[in-house]
Amino acid sequence: MLRLDPCPIFVAGEWIDIHDVETSRVHNPSVGDVIAEAPMCTAEHVNAAVEAAAAAFPDWWETPPVERARILFRFKMLLEENFEEIVRCITREHGKTLVESRGDLRRGIEMVEFSCGIPSLLTGESIENIARGIDCDTIRQPLGVCVGITPFNFPAMVPLWMYPVALACGNTFVLKPSEKVPLTAMMIARLLEQAGIPPGVFNIVHGGREAVDALLTHPQVRAVSFVGSTPIARYIFETATRHGKRAQANGSAKNFALIMPDADVENSTRGVIEGAFGCAGERCMASSTAVVVGGAAKTVLPALADAARSIRVGRTDTESQPNMGPLITGEHRNRVAQLIEAGVGEGAKILNDGRGVKVDGAPNGFYLGATILDEVQNDMTVSREEIFGPVLNVMRMDDLGAAIEAINRSPYGNGASIFTRSGKAAREFKHRIKAGMVGINVGVPASMAWFPFNGWGDSFFGDLHMQGKEGVQFFTQQKVTTSRWFDDREGNIWSDK
Ligand code: NAD
Repeated sequence: MLRLDPCPIFVAGEWIDIHDVETSRVHNPSVGDVIAEAPMCTAEHVNAAVEAAAAAFPDWWETPPVERARILFRFKMLLEENFEEIVRCITREHGKTLVESRGDLRRGIEMVEFSCGIPSLLTGESIENIARGIDCDTIRQPLGVCVGITPFNFPAMVPLWMYPVALACGNTFVLKPSEKVPLTAMMIARLLEQAGIPPGVFNIVHGGREAVDALLTHPQVRAVSFVGSTPIARYIFETATRHGKRAQANGSAKNFALIMPDADVENSTRGVIEGAFGCAGERCMASSTAVVVGGAAKTVLPALADAARSIRVGRTDTESQPNMGPLITGEHRNRVAQLIEAGVGEGAKILNDGRGVKVDGAPNGFYLGATILDEVQNDMTVSREEIFGPVLNVMRMDDLGAAIEAINRSPYGNGASIFTRSGKAAREFKHRIKAGMVGINVGVPASMAWFPFNGWGDSFFGDLHMQGKEGVQFFTQQKVTTSRWFDDREGNIWSDK
């Protein structure tokens, strides 16, 4: 039997093994082996973590921003030094290729780099003489204990969207990573510890609903950041705000890549294929639907089918890397296969069928090959539900206007791209499309650390997004001071005499 990796919680600077609770299995999806068991923490464990964070807050708040930034600089250097080890950990518990894991970690490190600029990011505004002799200024102060609850698909990047900036702003933090991929979060936390984060400033608990509910209702938690599926995002937002907390909750998505008849075939094919099948489609920015306009169908569809056929699926936990790895669990792989079945049953045509793919030496891995469904309509199950797997839907449209209307019927609003040579068509698309992140000849227009990760519609619940200046605003509260100073001639203001 394989030795399981330990999965302790991190509270008040101590790594603590939890016994006598239910556990959730962590797999190596490439071969299907169980590699760890994440403890399903109870409210008692969560309360201990929140209390540790609350106790650490006053000193951390008083720590000058530049000193907090120095710890983050050391953290960034340690992430670079241990880059490949973390990348292997991501691939082992998630299944994405090493190249994709490098991207996952690199995007996360960029958030640490962004957060190192906190002394500049925290500066306020001021104006003299709002009335004669009266000045006004704003400062930004931390909130207190903040919480992050994260999904399985970006084990490094998504937690790093949240806590570097929260900590830089002077908050303390409790992270609950996905119970499917807890190992990367812990490996990275050990580096933060090594960088000198004081005990209690950053804590980790594991678990599911019970742990999350304890975080959402704890009176000392001030803000909740969540990334995951829409039903849970809605629940998190509603529950957290009902309990008086600030909340930002990113949800599911359906993203569209619109290909105009004048688009460059090679570039648009590459953009759509990488967008749809990168990370085996387990991305909230996956371009899961190609909307092909008019004559583009004739040129682009054969190219898409050829490219999908050439995607080599295989083990990612070995030196020879495939183009695409497995899905996160056997259960999820089966759900995606059932959705393909439903699509075919409702009238979609298969251009490339990834079901039944076999990987040598890994009969128990969670594999599914690249699949393309053509002639998909808005009302089909595959259009309505987020598939979150290596499936590209193709919708055919007569013109740009009809294509924009079809896309705008989606309740989600993360990303939408257009491939065209026409500036006029691109402008029309950018102006009318209902999505928060728009790509022009870019397949996955995911915004980077310096800009908000800008979901709309059912892809986001809240007011302030993660990343960029909105991230700083989310993790701080503003104080406005209006001041007037009297001179001695006006007497002692503290006395009636
Ligand atoms: P998920 O919603 O199942 O889980 C996310 C987190 O919520 C996990 O930490 C999990 O433990 C917790 N959770 C699950 N069920 C819960 C419940 N009933 N009550 C309280 N907490 C619960 O999501 P996932 O499967 O881990 O991740 C995939 C989803 O995340 C996809 O829908 C994807 O689109 C979305 N996602 C969105 C973004 C974005 O920025 N919009 C980014 C990455 C992933």
